[in-house]
Amino acid sequence: MAKYKLEYIWLDGYDPVSNLRGKTQIKEFKVFPKLAELPMWAFDGSSTRQAEGKSSDCILKPIAVYPDSTKKNGALVMCEVMLPGSNAPHPSNARATILDDPGAWFGFEQEYFLYKDGAPLGFPSGGGFPPPQGEYYTGVGYKNVGDLAREIVDTHLDLCLDAGINHEGINSEVAKGQWEFQIFGKGSKNAADQVWMARYLLMRLCEKYGVDVNWHCKPLGKDVDWNGSGMHTNFSTEHIREVGGKKYFEKLMAAFDKFKNEHIAVYGPDNHLRLTGLHETQSIDKFNYGVANRGASLRVSQKFIDNGYRGYLEDRRPNSQGDPYKIAGRILQTIATVPLK
Ligand code: ADP
Ligand code: MN
Ligand code: MN
Ligand code: MN
Repeated sequence: MAKYKLEYIWLDGYDPVSNLRGKTQIKEFKVFPKLAELPMWAFDGSSTRQAEGKSSDCILKPIAVYPDSTKKNGALVMCEVMLPGSNAPHPSNARATILDDPGAWFGFEQEYFLYKDGAPLGFPSGGGFPPPQGEYYTGVGYKNVGDLAREIVDTHLDLCLDAGINHEGINSEVAKGQWEFQIFGKGSKNAADQVWMARYLLMRLCEKYGVDVNWHCKPLGKDVDWNGSGMHTNFSTEHIREVGGKKYFEKLMAAFDKFKNEHIAVYGPDNHLRLTGLHETQSIDKFNYGVANRGASLRVSQKFIDNGYRGYLEDRRPNSQGDPYKIAGRILQTIATVPLK
């Protein structure tokens, strides 16, 4: 038997953006525990905006477990928050509301800034701006990425791969101090679970560098010529991949247009600062789609068209601070309104 350190991780009740929370429990197992072996656990919901002080218990229900390579016998346990007694989801539990569909696939492109002392990594200390955007995206060299960011993003990548998180890639982004990782998963909740765990690992890793992750979609404000951060959401269902067709696609896009406000409502706060029609975005009050058009709300690849309107689609509106559970849930809800024939 070995004593495993189980880090139970969950989303708190802060609005509009939940924070990640975590606490450790020690339990003995012969080998790395399976999900079904992990017990429910309680926490004080009155300290996380999830309960009143007088009946403060909330329940953590493990939903995925990943190895934690930074610790001897460490496990990262992603949890849903449940109400005590009833085994019903807590109102803050968006994951529980996602339609189950093993044929739904999601790929999230998570952008973010690394911040130190109130400014993006690589910005001059004492204020002001570095040279304008241009060479930072996928750039190399000290003047483009500084001396710390790459160590952080490469270490983060290794931590995620060690955990079994399905990264598809990483890149430096258009603004200085801005980066991206992409995570792909099959099943309606799988990629979103992994995005939350990857966010957790990045934030925890950054602690020792005195760096914070700034997930805000427009941390430098909308009046300067510096990109914001998105979380482009690539999605497909079995029908979109295998049947597709122009008629179905047009009905799907009509549904996305009809529910555009419902989508924006869960695509992350302050998106009006980012979706302005500039910096490769469409403005927030419009929905459009376009082939290979990075200024569209939803981008359709040429390959999708050539393949008989089959494949996957990219919704470019979700922002970096959006909850991937709510985003995936809303996309599947809209898809479900469209008849297959
Ligand atoms: P870009 O920056 O050009 O928009 P990326 O390569 O950063 O593209 O992201 C594309 C994303 O699409 C990846 O996360 C990938 O996993 C995802 N993806 C690929 N195929 C599918 C699919 N069939 N369904 C859903 N997502 C997919
Ligand atoms: Mn990308
Ligand atoms: Mn990007
Ligand atoms: Mn993209």
